[in-house]
Amino acid sequence: MKLFRQSLAHKFRNGIQLMQTQSAQNHSDISLNPNIFASLLQECSHVKSVEQLHTQILITGLHQNHHLATKLVSIYAKHGFMEIARQLFDKIPTRDNLLWNVMIKGYAINGICDESLHLFYKMKEENLQPDRYTFSFVLKACAYLSALQEGKEICDEVVSAGLALDASVGVSVISMYAKCGRVDDARQVFDNISERNVVSWNAMISGYVWNGRANEALEVYHQMQKENVKPNRNTFVSILRACVDSKNVEQGKKIHEEIRKSEVELDVVLSTVLIDMYSKCKNMEFAREMFDKMYRRDMVLWSAMIMGYAHSGHANEALRFFNQMLQEDFKPDLITMSSALAACAHLSALRGGKSIHGYIVRSELKADAFVSTATALIDMYAKCGSLELARHVFEIMPKRNTVSWNVMIRGYGMHGYGENALELYLQMQENGMKPDEVTFTNLLSACSHAGLVSEGRKQFDSMVQDYCITPREEHYTCMVDLFGRAGHLDEALDFIQRMPIEPSISVWGALLGACRIHGNIELGECIAERLFNLDPKNTGRYVLLSNMYAAAGRWDGVLKVRAMVKERGLKRTQGCSYIELNNRVHAFVMGDRSHPQSEKIYSTLEALSKEMEKAGYVPDTNFVLHDVEEEMKESMLSSHSEKLAIAFGLINTSPGVTIRITKNLRICGDCHIASKFISKIVGREIIMRDANRFHHFRDGLCSCRDYW
Ligand code: ZN
Ligand code: ZN
Repeated sequence: MKLFRQSLAHKFRNGIQLMQTQSAQNHSDISLNPNIFASLLQECSHVKSVEQLHTQILITGLHQNHHLATKLVSIYAKHGFMEIARQLFDKIPTRDNLLWNVMIKGYAINGICDESLHLFYKMKEENLQPDRYTFSFVLKACAYLSALQEGKEICDEVVSAGLALDASVGVSVISMYAKCGRVDDARQVFDNISERNVVSWNAMISGYVWNGRANEALEVYHQMQKENVKPNRNTFVSILRACVDSKNVEQGKKIHEEIRKSEVELDVVLSTVLIDMYSKCKNMEFAREMFDKMYRRDMVLWSAMIMGYAHSGHANEALRFFNQMLQEDFKPDLITMSSALAACAHLSALRGGKSIHGYIVRSELKADAFVSTATALIDMYAKCGSLELARHVFEIMPKRNTVSWNVMIRGYGMHGYGENALELYLQMQENGMKPDEVTFTNLLSACSHAGLVSEGRKQFDSMVQDYCITPREEHYTCMVDLFGRAGHLDEALDFIQRMPIEPSISVWGALLGACRIHGNIELGECIAERLFNLDPKNTGRYVLLSNMYAAAGRWDGVLKVRAMVKERGLKRTQGCSYIELNNRVHAFVMGDRSHPQSEKIYSTLEALSKEMEKAGYVPDTNFVLHDVEEEMKESMLSSHSEKLAIAFGLINTSPGVTIRITKNLRICGDCHIASKFISKIVGREIIMRDANRFHHFRDGLCSCRDYW
């Protein structure tokens, strides 16, 4: 009989038409068999087929059959049609445990969890004793609702029902406690379960991951291996999440190896988690290797790759992937677009950023979603040197949050427009927005870059007194920077000595920078010494000290620093300048002759330097760190990466167009002077972003007013 049913079910798998023919033949014996209907219902892949069968069942009068009625309820619930399921359920006169369980499960798996809980109480009112299945489903609902109180009460019932040691109920209890934030209670239950299977282990591992306790998740995983329980796919998914959370790429690689050796198939979900793990742990080569192997790629995958590249400093690759994703007709989500915008911001790739902006406008985002994306846009425009566009996006935003205001204020600060930053801050207060720590960091930094000492001091006091914000390391750093930059070195020192917390590396670093600007070698040497002890691997500071010696003509000092760098095995970061042209980013290093346009670039520079000399430019050879002939120094200066990028920009853009350049290190002093001259000679604005801030060169002047 069973075999017969199976073969019949198979026959009908592809449609219900045959069934209808049969019923037309005056209800043959077969079609009156409720079991056959039940197996046919089980086969339905679409609710339409369920409805057709349902009609047949009504015609035949078989809906009175309890087994078949229960099956119908369960199938509608499985397809997510809880309203129909409920109507049927309400009409069934005698309801047994199985039927109640079907409904409680249906509500729970369809996310209508309060109704699931409600039905559970109703079931008990009708004097039915919940069984292990009832408990499992209703506990799932509690977990979803984070309903700890109800969950605990149900756990008590589980104990009185004698199911405390049951493995399947135990899993639900563990998940419930974990999802309600009580992972230690979950652990206690886990430890008490007598026969633990892979599902119980998984519940405990994912419970720890859910609560952000990755290390404990890993411990449980190791214990599981010791007890010779074979991990399954879900185990691997959870444990890889733990590796992501704890940024433990070594462990992640081991798990990857274990997956390879196991019988678990590397499906889309598992591959995506692996790629996510590698990209979040900034191990993009591995992520890429996995990505290339996958034949089916979905949005999550693309997103993980783009995010991984963007946040690991491979902005160029991030943009390349983003464009490729668009070409393959995937619609990026908000997170992916924000990552791509961050990549543009990093590279100062204004054109790329603009095209993403266009894409966002076309995709008609909801206002809520727009706040975060618009904020990413503001940040991108500000970092690409276009404050006007940043402000434009800011103005047309339908809704702004604190982050949007903060990002716009920071934008003004980076570009040296301290007054605008302060004005915007005033507007922020008028709009009833409360500033936070970040607002003040941005504000103080804006004051510092614009040399607004008394205003900065005022804001610092206001932060403490009016907003009760305890100053943090970055606030102190901004203040020291503010005093130091403006030449008040004594006040900066005094401020450091009165700090209630131990001055950090960045605070001393700010003071060292000030010593360089104002040529105070004695204090500079003293601070550098301290910094070299605190943070011996930061090459930038050795360069800073070396520059100070060089500027004072103290070659003995330069040699001393160079010896130190060599002795400690440090490598100087090579200076590199970027410029975007036609959606591609071109990079230049000092003395670079690798670019196809090299010849033209050097001849342009030569012609420019003649005009500059006529206009009164004298190369500032202090910025050459080698003890060489003056003439040699000049030629070395003229091939600095900043100048190469400027010349490249001049050659490839129309007259009058603004040239935007990004440098990975601080701009060199001679290039700063030269850029001022060039901006006047060619009548163009040159916007240069260096590691610290923006310089807008216009008409022979720089927006930083030479404070940098
Ligand atoms: Zn230079
Ligand atoms: Zn400047």
